[in-house]
Amino acid sequence: PPAFTGRGLRKTYITGETQVHALRGVDFEIRKGEVLVLLGPSGSGKSTLLNIVGGLDRPTEGTLHYEDVELTALDDADLTRFRRRQIGFIFQFYNLIPSLTAEENVRLVTDIAENPMDPARALELVGLAERRAHFPAQLSGGEQQRVAVARAIAKQPGVLLCDEPTGALDSETGVRVLETLDRANRELGTTLILITHNAGIAAMADRVFHFLDGQIARIEENSRRIAPS
Ligand code: ADP
Ligand code: ADP
Repeated sequence: PPAFTGRGLRKTYITGETQVHALRGVDFEIRKGEVLVLLGPSGSGKSTLLNIVGGLDRPTEGTLHYEDVELTALDDADLTRFRRRQIGFIFQFYNLIPSLTAEENVRLVTDIAENPMDPARALELVGLAERRAHFPAQLSGGEQQRVAVARAIAKQPGVLLCDEPTGALDSETGVRVLETLDRANRELGTTLILITHNAGIAAMADRVFHFLDGQIARIEENSRRIAPS
């Protein structure tokens, strides 16, 4: 089966008298091991979909499966268990703990994961083997984000969800982070789902979902995926 199958997903936020239709009935399949980019204007529903896929939020209507498991039928405890086991998150701001070294930041996750990678190996995969004893303040923005990537891949999740992972970085540093994500995808087979406003990043995707007003308006298929450069 695909990694994710969504059918008729709707999400309506109600605040006071106003309703916001963040997702207006989306259907999709996300393939195992693919790199998928969610592209579209601000407010078009990308983060809402990412949060639902990652088990951080629930749809108002519709069904979502991860492989053969219906996530929309799980109770909160089982949904949390699914998230802890299968999903790695990378956000725009790296969320590292300043008082811990790079390796200790990664260890926070591997200490509680079920099937963790050695933290030193994760830092090696992102090209930071030599920096493992550094504190976040001693690292550049790009390096801090690579520590965040190391932390996310160290639990060996089936899926990595990235919300504007290079949004806070200059383009050169951003490319280094994308290379790291690309490597995790190619070497570990991790399914990668990325939100971005950067059309250039879409070149590294196998597919692009173009969002418009709470819907997937178009699905673009890249026959030849380009490594970030
Ligand atoms: P995108 O990621 O494409 O910028 P979002 O999924 O964040 O879009 O938002 C889709 C719509 O839902 C927007 O109109 C946004 O303001 C609204 N929205 C998102 N989260 C909430 C929330 N927690 N409460 C109310 N409205 C929300
Ligand atoms: P980038 O690699 O993103 O271009 P910089 O030019 O900011 O980053 O940093 C170059 C090098 O200097 C990096 O390898 C980084 O580890 C180191 N560095 C950056 N800031 C500090 C700091 N405050 N203390 C020690 N080393 C630093």
